[in-house]
Amino acid sequence: MQNHWNLGRWLGIPVTMDWTVLLAFAWLFLMLGELLAALVGAVAFGCLLAAHEFGHVAMARWRRVPVYGINFNGLHGETARGHAARRGDEILVAWGGVLAQLLILVLALAASQALAFSTNSWVSRIAGPWLMVWTRWNVFLIIVALLPIGPMDGHAAWKVIPFLREKLRRRPQPKPASTGKVVELDAARRRALEAESAKAADEIINRLKKK
Ligand SMILES: [Zn+2]
Repeated sequence: MQNHWNLGRWLGIPVTMDWTVLLAFAWLFLMLGELLAALVGAVAFGCLLAAHEFGHVAMARWRRVPVYGINFNGLHGETARGHAARRGDEILVAWGGVLAQLLILVLALAASQALAFSTNSWVSRIAGPWLMVWTRWNVFLIIVALLPIGPMDGHAAWKVIPFLREKLRRRPQPKPASTGKVVELDAARRRALEAESAKAADEIINRLKKK
């Protein structure tokens, strides 16, 4: 049995789909109990998967990381890509998918608000399952994607924490009075310190004289 189908090239990238994506339709049908709602939900799910992968693609193209292909399967997709030259770029590309999903979540929440008062039954029959997938399922998929394990995006994405910590630690420390600018800024303080040390020296000399 063929495991995946070719969906052609999208934005110049070869895209394939695993048969396991169809499980989403079965799951939606069991959950919603209605063919139309399951179909609408499945299309919304497909859009969500595509948005996630093209979030990676957008980030990869921005950071000049080569992308070789996309495969959609059951719970998530996979973007085959080259390695980024810099660790920061690798982390950015890993976040691309989830960022696209968050953008969709915001749009879906706004649409839910806008359609909340609609009394048209067709609007609710289409928008209901569509927005359910783009909100509740979306949040669930974001959590799955950000699991810090194995092939999940979280594995690379959460490296952002040690990466930033290292960056902060390596930030150049201000050098004491080694540049003209610092001396200029500190002139008043330096004069005060000079006066203070001169005073202290005078005191010591006076005490020695008295002995
Ligand atoms: Zn991803």
